[in-house]
Amino acid sequence: VPTTTIGVDVGGTKILVRVVDTTRPDQPLAEHRMETPARIADVVGAIAAGVSEVERRLGDPDGSMAVGVGLPALVRPDGVLAFATHLADAAGFDAGAALASAIGRPVAVDNDANCAALAESVVGAGVGASDMVLVTLGTGIGGAIIAGGHLLRGAHGFAGEIGHVEVVHDGRPCPCGRAGCWERYASGNGLGITAREAASAGLLPSVVARVGSVASVRGEDVVALAAEGAPDALAVLDELGRWVAVGLADLVNVLDPAIVVLGGGVVDAGDLLLEPVRAHFARMAIGAGHRAPPPIHVAHLGSSAGAIGAALMAAGRG
Ligand SMILES: [Zn+2]
Repeated sequence: VPTTTIGVDVGGTKILVRVVDTTRPDQPLAEHRMETPARIADVVGAIAAGVSEVERRLGDPDGSMAVGVGLPALVRPDGVLAFATHLADAAGFDAGAALASAIGRPVAVDNDANCAALAESVVGAGVGASDMVLVTLGTGIGGAIIAGGHLLRGAHGFAGEIGHVEVVHDGRPCPCGRAGCWERYASGNGLGITAREAASAGLLPSVVARVGSVASVRGEDVVALAAEGAPDALAVLDELGRWVAVGLADLVNVLDPAIVVLGGGVVDAGDLLLEPVRAHFARMAIGAGHRAPPPIHVAHLGSSAGAIGAALMAAGRG
């Protein structure tokens, strides 16, 4: 079993390449970041260049380390991508073969959220929990499920696309092609939409006064004004917390996890978001009042979780 491997996480804006000692995976041996190209073939080229760069830095130009890659896509077990919301030309692309050819060795390819969940379960917030749900609240919503100590992959490798459960019939349009998906309400993008709706209804005067116009209101502005105690901004974060709790309650009703782990940039709002999430969630799980709902913890590994998990996959831990 290799102990030093390379994990790559392909995010919406950045690619992170990280060399990991899998006996101490939270301590990077080397890291390299790049912009994410729009097209999948260019993503493969960027990953190969990033792998060469960290190997050169570590004095391993012959490339002996195993490589794992997490992609924001539906990934078949054979490494072929079925679909991606934010990567052009991904459908039908043989990512496993293309990466192996570009890097010169076999590459373990998996869904990015699966990688992050593996990392949080092995060295992060989910250590010791054999049943865990990871929900990443970022630009969209990603997710993955650990059930009985293993990643729940489903029949085709596509399980865990929790951002695209419908929470509002005929709701906000979603890049996946449907409407009313959870991520249109409970993600960073969802917060921005909710905030601009509140602003245009005259319900967010403190934020509009700060940024100058309804159209320029962003989720970060709401968080900033809420941190200053503005009641209108706090009300919008309470609504975001309710939307987050709606989806978490459904997941808990289906999966009965021991722990829910929340990651992604939206969680940087801290207790301004977590307190409303926990308050709404406590009322929503089935049997509320007659059971202890699972604790909601913040992810420990931040934006490194995907790369750490991909490195663990490369070491055969997935
Ligand atoms: Zn959707």
